[in-house]
Amino acid sequence: MTSEGWPKPALQADIPAIECPSNVLDWLENLPSPVLDIASKIADYGGGIWIVGGAVRDACLGLKVHDIDFAVSLEPQHMMEIFPDSIPTGIEYGTVSLRGGNQFYEATTLRTESDYEDGRRPEQVHWGVSLSEDLERRDFTINAMAIDIGRKVMHDPHHGLQDIERGMLRAVGQAYRRIAEDGLRILRAYRFLDRGSAGVWQFDFELSEALRQNAHMLKAVTHERIWMEWLKILNGRNVAPVVEKMAHDGVLDCFMPGEWRSQHLRIAALSHPYVHDFDGLTRLALLLAECFSIEVEESLQALKMSKKERTYILDLHGRFGSLPKASLASMRVFRAVLEQHAEQHLKLEIVLRNHTIRPSMGSGKESADDVYALLESLDELAPLKNGNQSLVDGHWIMQRTGLAKGRALGRLKAWLHRLQIERDLADANEVESVLCSLHWTEENHLDWPKLQFPD
Ligand code: ATP
Ligand code: MG
Repeated sequence: MTSEGWPKPALQADIPAIECPSNVLDWLENLPSPVLDIASKIADYGGGIWIVGGAVRDACLGLKVHDIDFAVSLEPQHMMEIFPDSIPTGIEYGTVSLRGGNQFYEATTLRTESDYEDGRRPEQVHWGVSLSEDLERRDFTINAMAIDIGRKVMHDPHHGLQDIERGMLRAVGQAYRRIAEDGLRILRAYRFLDRGSAGVWQFDFELSEALRQNAHMLKAVTHERIWMEWLKILNGRNVAPVVEKMAHDGVLDCFMPGEWRSQHLRIAALSHPYVHDFDGLTRLALLLAECFSIEVEESLQALKMSKKERTYILDLHGRFGSLPKASLASMRVFRAVLEQHAEQHLKLEIVLRNHTIRPSMGSGKESADDVYALLESLDELAPLKNGNQSLVDGHWIMQRTGLAKGRALGRLKAWLHRLQIERDLADANEVESVLCSLHWTEENHLDWPKLQFPD
């Protein structure tokens, strides 16, 4: 029976159905209407359609579902005829993206795969009509469940629900084979250990062994895919225990510089309460604090992350170990240069000191308590009267000094800007008085201070 507004049942699966847990039924009641429309259309054409993958897993876990993916029995060409505005986003693997409201839904034709020759991607994909076979090719039991939308029932041939209850990650079928087929599954496995506020899951014994024996398989995975998963792990709530396990199992060594099994101090730093509010990139910078910048640069480059991400990490790394002086002037410069990152920088310095991590660039003698004091004074630092923008421009300086455009003019402008920030100057008249007191005609302009941190 279908309730009003619900799609009529589509093609039935070739495996037995079970009842949905009550939280999943509640979730199904509130499915977005485009999902119901898509399901109705497929049913009209005699096809089968199931919600699969992460959406089913997250609905069962009671988590917010971010995107809904479908498995369908109709072939991609047929799907594109039924949904003329769909986009063939991964047609060779049977995936088309269906428009629904202002969102896209990925629908992938049921398939079987064979011969992962290179540990990356299946050599051949065959369209099928068997949901059972389609679920068999998936990585972990919690990702191998399906929901029949029209009948409001589930298919869970690999007992993913039971594993959710036990808090256990288990491979579909033989763990060793599953992992050897596609090295990326190694990182996916560690990512799924982190269950956010519900804590950290465990691997079942067979999977745990398979991961350790196959860690080297990660070398066959493209760096872009590694970085996508690694960043998700780094952003996870329980990053410290997950990364600790990756280090212990020899997984980190495959894409992070150095030897990680013995790096307990660096990894323990990830469990510092401040780290909770740091993003994944900042956490990665922290892990790399003791590495030389050249090593950091090379390893980030190898991971093929975006230039923006790389620059962010390298900037953090380059500042490790540097602190502003406790003076008002120094704190003002520090805040003006780092802006919204100033507080985080001091917190990172506290984490480094609390965990006796020695940045490769060296650091001063200040203790964690000294840095706490700086953090407090940053908090109490009054806003500048005129913000961080320079009160005068090059033209203004040229008129008063007779300097022509060039290096010296630029450096004098930077020097005045620094003094403006240090002394919290209120207007151009005050800048003029300061200019009159500078011996800029006598000194080498390359020695003039700039607005920068570290100095
Ligand atoms: P996320 O919450 O990050 O989207 P997900 O499990 O949904 O996690 P997707 O990449 O969206 O990840 O993949 C959807 C589904 O496809 C997975 O749940 C799983 O069933 C299957 N899958 C994805 N990647 C692999 C893989 N490397 N090997 C086997 N199955 C995979
Ligand atoms: Mg997904």
